[in-house]
Amino acid sequence: MSAATLQGLFRSEKELDRLPASERIRYRLIGADCRYHANDNISAHIREGELEELKAEVAQQMQGVLKSLVIDTEGDHNSSETAQRVAKMFVEEVFRGRYVPMPSVTEFPNFSRLNELMIVGPIKVRSACSHHLCPIIGRVWIGIMPNEFSNLIGLSKYVRICDWVMSRPQIQEEAVTMLAEELQNRVKPDGLAIVMEADHFCMHWRGVKDDESVMTNSVMRGAFLRDANLRREFLSLMASKNRS
Ligand SMILES: [Zn+2]
Repeated sequence: MSAATLQGLFRSEKELDRLPASERIRYRLIGADCRYHANDNISAHIREGELEELKAEVAQQMQGVLKSLVIDTEGDHNSSETAQRVAKMFVEEVFRGRYVPMPSVTEFPNFSRLNELMIVGPIKVRSACSHHLCPIIGRVWIGIMPNEFSNLIGLSKYVRICDWVMSRPQIQEEAVTMLAEELQNRVKPDGLAIVMEADHFCMHWRGVKDDESVMTNSVMRGAFLRDANLRREFLSLMASKNRS
């Protein structure tokens, strides 16, 4: 967006305060020229207290969806709190990875100069597809080939970073690439391999109603791309961890 158009759209803090939280946040995102796709993290543009406002806004809109579905949210005691529950689930749980900053991760230099293949996984993945907001449940394996300049992070941190990336509406191919970017930037390994295998509930619950399909995606970088032996070692260790 050009500066002139932005100027035309300029709003004072006072004006912003009168807007719903989602519009305020969107205004900041557009001003900062930041993408806000379903799988983007927008936490840097959310101020204190605004998540609570967002939750109330989503609950209100969700109530409208139930109304349009002709569900009697007053008479049906099972549905009376559904809008609030769904809003809380979206904002605080299943899409939380959009709204909170990346979990803090302490990196430490590779003092002992580890240069052996390291595998983390299977890490349980809970996500949702951007197309239908249906659950995606699966597993991720991460292979790291460190060098003496790599920053190492604790094993549990891989799980937390993975969860942060996956707790957004995602597309599996983009999710593995996003996870690879985060790990590449932080750990700076010689090689990085990620395999994700997941069950897409939009295939079971709707559409083709196929119960067998599991989708597998992988990203291979650096040493894993160059070295077929390393790739094989990773895949066979992954398979053996899978059996145990
Ligand atoms: Zn879907």
